Amino acid sequence: MNTVKKDRPHPEIAEAAAVTATGVPTQAAFGDIHRPLAGSTVPPRQVRVIGLGCGDGRHTVLADWDTGRTAHEFTLHAKPVLARVAEDDRLNPGSGCERCEGLMGCEQPPRVNGLLGIPGPRRPRKRRSVSATDLRVHSRCPAQFHLTRVLHLRSGEPESEPVRRGRAVDDWLNERHRQGSCRGATLPATLPGLSEAEQPPALAMLAQHLLDCPLDGLPPDEHVRVQPRLTAYDPELDVLLIADPDLLYTRSGGWIWHETKTAARRPWEGRELMETYPQLPFAVLLMAAGVPGGDPRRSLIELEMLYESSSGCEEIDPGEPETQAEARRIIAELAGPWAVDETYAPKPGGHCAGCEMLGHCVAGRSHLEAW
Ligand SMILES: [Zn+2]
Repeated sequence: MNTVKKDRPHPEIAEAAAVTATGVPTQAAFGDIHRPLAGSTVPPRQVRVIGLGCGDGRHTVLADWDTGRTAHEFTLHAKPVLARVAEDDRLNPGSGCERCEGLMGCEQPPRVNGLLGIPGPRRPRKRRSVSATDLRVHSRCPAQFHLTRVLHLRSGEPESEPVRRGRAVDDWLNERHRQGSCRGATLPATLPGLSEAEQPPALAMLAQHLLDCPLDGLPPDEHVRVQPRLTAYDPELDVLLIADPDLLYTRSGGWIWHETKTAARRPWEGRELMETYPQLPFAVLLMAAGVPGGDPRRSLIELEMLYESSSGCEEIDPGEPETQAEARRIIAELAGPWAVDETYAPKPGGHCAGCEMLGHCVAGRSHLEAW
């Protein structure tokens, strides 16, 4: 979609080459199966696999093999991977369920009805998935949502400092939490992806976390899942709900859903936390609906805020009826316009400055010029 992916897995390249070398050219008419093309075709002697970046127009040759080498690469690299896939019968619910024909008869993902608090579609739509981030971006600008979250376009421009800082801090914490608590951990000298000037604030935020790591003191028999993908399915809306908590761990029979945010300053006091971070009401509704499970009375959502010279942790009880009502209101307000949108019109505003889709957006550019 954007630039040539540099790290294409070798089995994938070997498979593409093998299919090109040995496959039969076919054509599919609308609603029909693939049928061999008329006319004789000569099997190739040489196969070239080319990666093409449709965003920047660059290309790179990924493989240039004769058919002997192609067969060898397939046997060695692609075949074992394909065999593993064919044999594997574990379920792995996620956004892949969107196009799965087996979803209706599948035991996963857990069914939740009416979680988004909006009526069903007036006319049938393709099955979709949605996350709290999708809803947040859509409410800011439907065009930006469509370009970045549905079409997955990237501008190639470096991301903003807060975004890169957040990612660098998250990556380090995730790596650390896979090994256990941060007690006694030493800070790295630098974090990848940040400039020299950006290092000290990011490292200071990590230092704040080390003072109060949520996994510190957690008994060893509790479960810890780092960035697990949680999926639920609303059959009435035909929508998959997707969430990726930073950290999910058990404590005395209940799950704790832990989100970490880095920020230069405290969020504006007058605004509810759940309004500022839609992941929180989304988490409340999922937990209230029994995802990821456990004892609902012991389930809790934690928001850890990391600043340069302080930190804070807010707790939200997903079992509290008032909290649930507030979460339902916030999510329904965001989900309503998303659910019925079919045009994804741009909504120009202050957010246009710094929007990575500006190059594709006439409305955004005129807005900035007029400003
Ligand atoms: Zn930690």
